[in-house]
Amino acid sequence: MLPSTEKILNFIGGEMRQPQSGAWLENVDPATGQVYGQIAASSKEDLETAVTVAQKAFPAWRDAGAEKRAACLKKLAALIEMHCEEFVRAESMDNGKPVSLARAVDIPRGIANLRAFADAALEFSGECFENDVSESYTLRQPHGVVATISPWNLPLLLFTWKAAPALAAGNCLIAKPSEVTPASAFLLSSLINEAGFPPGVFNVLHGRGAEIGAAITAHPDISAISFTGGTVTGKAIYAGAAENLKKISLELGGKNPTIIFADADFDKAVEGAKTAAFANQGQVCLCGSRLLIEESIFEKFKMAFLEKTADIKIGDPMDDDTQHGATVSKDHMQKVLSCIALAKEEGGEILTGGVPVQVEGRCENGFFIAPTVIENLPQNCRTNKEEIFGPVVTLMPFKTEEEALSIANGTEYGLASSVWTEDKEKAARMAAGIDSGIVWINCWNLRDLNTPFGGMKKSGIGREGKHRAMQFFTEEKTVTRPK
Ligand code: NDP
Repeated sequence: MLPSTEKILNFIGGEMRQPQSGAWLENVDPATGQVYGQIAASSKEDLETAVTVAQKAFPAWRDAGAEKRAACLKKLAALIEMHCEEFVRAESMDNGKPVSLARAVDIPRGIANLRAFADAALEFSGECFENDVSESYTLRQPHGVVATISPWNLPLLLFTWKAAPALAAGNCLIAKPSEVTPASAFLLSSLINEAGFPPGVFNVLHGRGAEIGAAITAHPDISAISFTGGTVTGKAIYAGAAENLKKISLELGGKNPTIIFADADFDKAVEGAKTAAFANQGQVCLCGSRLLIEESIFEKFKMAFLEKTADIKIGDPMDDDTQHGATVSKDHMQKVLSCIALAKEEGGEILTGGVPVQVEGRCENGFFIAPTVIENLPQNCRTNKEEIFGPVVTLMPFKTEEEALSIANGTEYGLASSVWTEDKEKAARMAAGIDSGIVWINCWNLRDLNTPFGGMKKSGIGREGKHRAMQFFTEEKTVTRPK
């Protein structure tokens, strides 16, 4: 049995520890609006302790070899799998997402991340070079103590996506999950010793981003930070890390287009666009929040899309048949509702949703927002340019490929896009023309963990994915000798 998530403790040097300041934060269940636990509010003192134990553990972990590191990651994956349902319910309670989603996506992907990077540890190697006068090879060596800072929308999935390569590459880690959703990282930390990680290799600090996150960013002995979160926070971390020239990987926000051509498979495109818009209550960085529809099918597609949206079952995240749960927090719900109010001011017509939903019974005070569809907004208004990160999608017609590209590329973001057409050449032209790090053709969020993952423009710096993340978490050294 895993520990209760009512008291979220730090994990430092192989032990669960109270925050040294004695300060705690409240943990709220977004489905009920009730406080259900406390979270350690870590301070610089906790960070100092964590850095010290991590530095001490580093030489042995670095030299332990890829097999040992892979074995620990695989054991951790197996332990999470063994406790899968406990993770599912904790993740759902912490975040407001339906248990069906946590069961199908979050927890299995967390496990898959650990396994993928266990394999990566074994596969990863340097390169060899040769010319007439010399032969060279490269070594890939861990940085030392590194940090990961992850967001609340896919808590275990994104936590493991960063932590696993950091450890697989031989670094010691200080990981900070979001204070809004700390539960699954806490449960994971309770399994670290059993998985075989030596004390000090894997440390988890909870608490406010503006405090402990900023302290991690500024710490001179942390050599690299892998961050996923909002663009504003990403900029602050980039600036904070400059002082010590830390290595930085930034996975930031998105305002992703879903582009539907008239020759697309209509039913698949409607279903795909709906999932892209509203998955996880629209709180996925990859969500297709701008739906661009070729003019000749605009009205037909709109009606079918609205019909599909009306079928989404909103309810208690703990019910197995719920498809749309609570927004992550009261603050975030208010932010999303204020974006909807702005859309109205900008002349948008709300076709459905746009309001909070009261779910009867134990969830009557929860933070639910109906899936919202808006049309009649110009492409360059704030609603169509700024990330909302909620269940809100705008519809825009286009006439030509050039116009679709111009709308698609008309934001500061460039994370992902999805293009729906049966014409392979058109799909290839669009893929080449869209400014986004990821382009899906006739699908959305179809992931292969080997592929590079990341954004262009203000959606980030660098790429994650199996070998890209291993590259980020290592220094490359070139060794040359004469022939
Ligand atoms: P935030 O940027 O608010 O927070 C992300 C993490 O950074 C949290 O752990 C947060 O801690 C921490 N943090 C906050 N302020 C600071 C600071 N000054 N210094 C260091 N760390 C800090 O993002 P959200 O949690 O709100 O997540 C949503 C955002 O993440 C969206 O913009 C979304 O698009 C983006 N995202 C991007 C993904 C990608 O792969 N490109 C994937 C998923 C989400 P705390 O929460 O405790 O304050």
